[in-house]
Amino acid sequence: MFKRRWPDGFVCPACGKRRVAALKSRPRLHECLDSGRQTSVTAGTVMHRSRLPLTTWFWAAHLMTTHSNGMSALQLQDQLGVTYKTAWLLTQKLRRSMVDPDREPLEGVVEVDQAEIAFREGDTFFEPGNAGKILVIGAVEIIERDTNQAKPRRKHAKYLDTRSGRIRLAMISDNSSASIEAFVNANVKRGATLLTDGHKSYPGLTGYRHDPRVVGKMAAHIVLPWIHRAFSLMRRWSLGTYHGLRRKHVDTYLNEFVFRYNRRYYRHVSFETLLGLAADKEPASYWDIIKRDNPRKSASRAGSAPLLHIDEPESAG
Ligand SMILES: [Zn+2]
Repeated sequence: MFKRRWPDGFVCPACGKRRVAALKSRPRLHECLDSGRQTSVTAGTVMHRSRLPLTTWFWAAHLMTTHSNGMSALQLQDQLGVTYKTAWLLTQKLRRSMVDPDREPLEGVVEVDQAEIAFREGDTFFEPGNAGKILVIGAVEIIERDTNQAKPRRKHAKYLDTRSGRIRLAMISDNSSASIEAFVNANVKRGATLLTDGHKSYPGLTGYRHDPRVVGKMAAHIVLPWIHRAFSLMRRWSLGTYHGLRRKHVDTYLNEFVFRYNRRYYRHVSFETLLGLAADKEPASYWDIIKRDNPRKSASRAGSAPLLHIDEPESAG
């Protein structure tokens, strides 16, 4: 932890000097020999002021990043032998590290579409046929396999032999132009080519090249395969791991899914990002977490410092 926080050696945040002593009685604290200022090795990380052993945090972050579907609080409770409340707090806090406020917008060729996702109400048993629905909008970069780049083609031309790049997902309140434009503007770089189903809310978007893919009665999952694959992975994940999403935490869950998807070949980096070792985040308290209404609002408040950037989501093949 010490090496990770101060890779070039300790620097006192109060006086800038470098002479330091570790406190024997409190192993997380280091005291500056010049100013006497005590600095915790967990300051600015998600672990700050937590009474849990650091090894519990490390295990939780490890399990959440290496388990391909992530971990629910229930699963973590079993794995770590902690109470449900502790497991729930661990997952909530680690999930908050999964939003990168400085992340780069998607670019190149981007499929955009909306999907209805069922959510679970209260503690009732989740029955997909009998659940409420939320509207989710998603975008995914289309990368050519041979060149590993996005290559815009003439309108209506087929994109063959592609793979998916990075994705973004968000809940929107309706299919209006305003909702869709807000998402696209926030997540896709100007000048990108948008492949859509030709919904009437798209043409108002300025600053993008719009290439609607309505081909007669052909199903959307054929003309927009990658975003539909992302939607179906997300549905399967939400059912398998959480037995349905809860409306209140939908944004947090979507962020978790996007984080994991975009870093699926960089799990060791995810581990450090989750613990806040690479970032200077304001730690979130229990009350922050349970009181807030909008997880995204809280998450953006939680940190403006840069996280590790992973712009290339995967290597070829
Ligand atoms: Zn000092």
